Amino acid sequence: MLSNVIVIGSGPAGLTAALYLARANLKPLVLAGNQPGGQLMITTEVDNFPGFPEGIQGPELMQRMIDQVKRFGAEIVNSDITKVDFSRSNPEKTLKIWVGDTEYQTKSVIVATGASAIWLGLESEQRLRGFGVSACATCDGFFFKGKDIAVVGGGDTAMEEAIFLTHFANSVKVIHRRDSLRASKIMQDRARANPKISFVWNSVVEEVLGDKSVDGLKIKNLLTNDISTLDVKGLFLAIGHRPNTDVFKDSGLEFDQNGYLVGEKETWTKLDGVFIAGDVSDHIYRQAITAAGSGCRAALDVERWLQANN
Ligand code: FAD
Ligand code: NAP
Repeated sequence: MLSNVIVIGSGPAGLTAALYLARANLKPLVLAGNQPGGQLMITTEVDNFPGFPEGIQGPELMQRMIDQVKRFGAEIVNSDITKVDFSRSNPEKTLKIWVGDTEYQTKSVIVATGASAIWLGLESEQRLRGFGVSACATCDGFFFKGKDIAVVGGGDTAMEEAIFLTHFANSVKVIHRRDSLRASKIMQDRARANPKISFVWNSVVEEVLGDKSVDGLKIKNLLTNDISTLDVKGLFLAIGHRPNTDVFKDSGLEFDQNGYLVGEKETWTKLDGVFIAGDVSDHIYRQAITAAGSGCRAALDVERWLQANN
């Protein structure tokens, strides 16, 4: 069956796009991926999504978005797509998308596959995610008022997160695996000048201590192999994000040097009828509300494109 539009991804960007498209009676198909609801499904309290004065749990917010989209008749398939052909080289000149052996054809598409934070990969880190371990200072910094906390990383994100966290925390220790920072000079200078920030050089986190919440870190000095304990109540990972774009590698879409999708103008890409929304094309803001906003914009752009091309 030929769809008017397929939305790939079901985070705030994909679901907002699907909501607008469904209400416009365009009968969108959402290929929601293996993580229906997106990144907010793996967090606890979301305090900064407008409309929820008491805050809301991430999974509940996303379930509400899914319910809202379904109410207007969008079809949702909870699978990762595995292949695309955006060349329109078939006689019908459609875009083709596969989930395994199942082929979908569509006139237009919105790519909203998001990005994933890179984690250290420690068992204790994963167990305490949402309970003192976070990869998003903007999202969770507020919960660490007056606490001593740590940030891992030596790049611009780590400096930015550390500086932001000093608005709440009593102290911020930046743990870096080398003795020089990768961050730009200006960000380094700002972090070094901040009296609440100190650095733990040549060191890595071996274990996050704590049963139900973070109660300290086991740190290894890579030069001496000494193990020590850092007395902190929170750990922020800032070792990079990876956009979920592998499947689009040979699609003809354009990427920046970090692998994020690049548009031509607004949500439009250089490929006719292919639009992008959310964190997959945004390495700067990375918030649920900005992703939702760009999903709305992409849906409105698709509507205009379909009107012009149908
Ligand atoms: P995502 O939410 O990343 O969703 C991507 C979607 O694409 C998923 O459904 C996934 O299954 C799908 N997908 C991926 N690959 C494929 C594929 N091959 N085929 C089909 N589908 C695919 N933001 C806030 O505003 N407030 C917060 O409090 C907050 N807390 C956060 C806490 C944590 C722990 C994390 C990790 C992030 C947090 N964020 C928060 C950031 C926010 O979650 C993201 O900015 C937002 O989810 C981005 O939305 P998105 O729709 O672009 O992508
Ligand atoms: P990044 O520049 O890749 O830095 C990642 C940091 O994490 C590096 O210091 C790296 O150490 C460290 N790291 C990586 N894997 C690790 C691991 N497994 N264990 C411990 N440490 C690890 O990523 P980023 O800081 O997210 O920045 C991404 C891009 O966005 C950059 O181009 C950056 O300039 C840009 N950005 C700019 C701003 C700004 O200008 N305000 C803000 C944020 C981001 P090594 O240094 O040893 O490799």
